[in-house]
Amino acid sequence: MEVVPIGGYEEVGRNMTWVRDGDDSIIIDMGIRLDRVLIHEDTDISKLSQEELVRRGIIPDDTVIKEKVKAIILSHGHLDHLGAVTLLASKYNAPVVGTPYTLELVKRELRHTRPKKKLDLQVLNEGESLYVSENMEVEFIRVTHSIPQSSLVAVHTDNGTLVYANDFKLDDHPVIGAKPNYKRLKKLGRSGVKGLIVETTRINNEGRTPSESIAKRLIEDSLTKTDNRKGLVVTTFSSHISRIKSITRMASVINRTPVLLGRSMEKYVSIAEELGIIELPDDAHLYGDRKAIKKILGRIVNDGKEKYLLVVTGHQGEPDALLSKIAGKKLPYRVNKGDQVIFSADVIPNPINVANRYAMETKLKMQGARLFKGNHVSGHAAKEDHRDLIKLLQPEMIIPCHGDLRMLASYAELAEDEGYALNRDLFLVRNGQIVRL
Ligand SMILES: [Zn+2]
Repeated sequence: MEVVPIGGYEEVGRNMTWVRDGDDSIIIDMGIRLDRVLIHEDTDISKLSQEELVRRGIIPDDTVIKEKVKAIILSHGHLDHLGAVTLLASKYNAPVVGTPYTLELVKRELRHTRPKKKLDLQVLNEGESLYVSENMEVEFIRVTHSIPQSSLVAVHTDNGTLVYANDFKLDDHPVIGAKPNYKRLKKLGRSGVKGLIVETTRINNEGRTPSESIAKRLIEDSLTKTDNRKGLVVTTFSSHISRIKSITRMASVINRTPVLLGRSMEKYVSIAEELGIIELPDDAHLYGDRKAIKKILGRIVNDGKEKYLLVVTGHQGEPDALLSKIAGKKLPYRVNKGDQVIFSADVIPNPINVANRYAMETKLKMQGARLFKGNHVSGHAAKEDHRDLIKLLQPEMIIPCHGDLRMLASYAELAEDEGYALNRDLFLVRNGQIVRL
């Protein structure tokens, strides 16, 4: 069996891995790198050629894949794992496999981008397996993360089992869905795991990542203490449906009407509603369309801001997102002295986000807003969660991914603690290099 890293092994983003076993091969994930989209103002990626997108480091360079693949497997719905599907998948003529939530997101992307060939989308639920060829079986193992229906992917072949853990956290008290399927992971560990490909985004956080139920408590605490005479805006990840559930549930407790706004907010939340993953309160509003957003914001201002709980995009200060526009006085909703802005997201630490967030926060403060930060827990495993996964699976070999070299090296230190040795059964690889298991 061979693992060929295509993208995500030198960076955070554009995840893509090619797994080969004899004549059978599959691709796992097809992501984009968003910070590379943002550095060029007004980049419309649908107008750039594939070569240009690769050159800019936005999508993975998949030119090494010359043979037919049996399937394209999507581990979960984040853009750094599926954002390149509409650009790259059609040339492979292979089914695109994912959980229902993930595939609905692909369908939405397809509304805007027309690939050369129609994609064959195949649902695989958590806990289910699928033979992509006679000798290759793909299994989705339930795991927790910050978007619904995320899975660890196990690839079973005659030459052993490979586990792909990119992304995950080990949350025993999730707000939506069940905890990770430890029983299955243990069983796999006992029967023998040949290799583990594992994310490293939070490897430098000591200890374990707190449960999402802790974030729920933070939100409850923050919202019950808010001033009910003033405006209230919460911003969070629009794909973080658990978090949105915790926020919107509080609306009736504090006697406010929840209003969810933003193009991506509308996308992720409406799909979750359609699939029964979240049930919004009856009085909730959800708008993604620019005109509709302007209209409802006008209504809110006339009616009294204190009656509403706004949930908006823009937690990273992205110039096009709702909160930046509010801060920039580009919308009918203005921030006045004493209005409250709650951040339920940390800054994803790249210089662009840091600068954008700084600019937005300064504007909000100058208009008299009270800012409440830190109502957040990560969706990624921390160091001791990673150690737990190694102990559960006891893989023969480990390949860390989804990070720059420093993050991969931090993981390597942990793995060496656990008895692995660099270049013996632990490999730090660059995009395009091949690892034989
Ligand atoms: Zn993710």
